Amino acid sequence: MNIILIGPPGSGKGTQAKKILADFSLNYFSAGDILRGLAKEDSPLGREVAQIMAQGKLVSDSLMAQIIEDFLTRNEGDVVFDGYPRGLDQAVFLEKSLKNRGGISLVINLQVPEEVLINRLSSRVICRNCDAVYNLITNPPKKKEICDTCGGELYQRDDETPEAVKKRLAVFDRQTKPVIEFFDRKGGIFNVDGNQSIEAIYLIIRKKLVNIGLGLISA
Ligand SMILES: [Zn+2]
Repeated sequence: MNIILIGPPGSGKGTQAKKILADFSLNYFSAGDILRGLAKEDSPLGREVAQIMAQGKLVSDSLMAQIIEDFLTRNEGDVVFDGYPRGLDQAVFLEKSLKNRGGISLVINLQVPEEVLINRLSSRVICRNCDAVYNLITNPPKKKEICDTCGGELYQRDDETPEAVKKRLAVFDRQTKPVIEFFDRKGGIFNVDGNQSIEAIYLIIRKKLVNIGLGLISA
């Protein structure tokens, strides 16, 4: 049973994915992690991806298709997709790619108000030295602009300034609306209110996954 997690940047998709992976036997395809990994590479592809991400834009469908095919070749079994598909063409491509692997069983749509997302995302700072992540509202460093752990300088990612966040959310909405409509027509959308605690959200998701027959990893 393949699962898709849909939700805007800052909706807590990645956190929910990790909780799902701890309970259910699934592979994890995180578009964000994979692209961020590529963006750090000093290669033509890496520089291309880094530039696209800094502008708050999306990687091309054909490039993402290559990355998906490669992932499916190397990973047998069911997958939870996070950050993919974005856009109708990607949704159609993924459905086709999974046809002989059980298809798509469920699309979880995490819904969070825009002002909450802007607030969450634009308060994140990262250590330049050790990559530790702080949140100026929920998890602030002891000294402003200095890492508690290593004393390194804290900075805000280019794509997490309030202006960049607004732009990313607008791009996400435009690209994702047709995807949600596509899966909704097939009856596979499960809407979840993402503006509650991590545990409350996960309880709802876990119950749903058990209900559709996804097997829990035995303790
Ligand atoms: Zn540090």
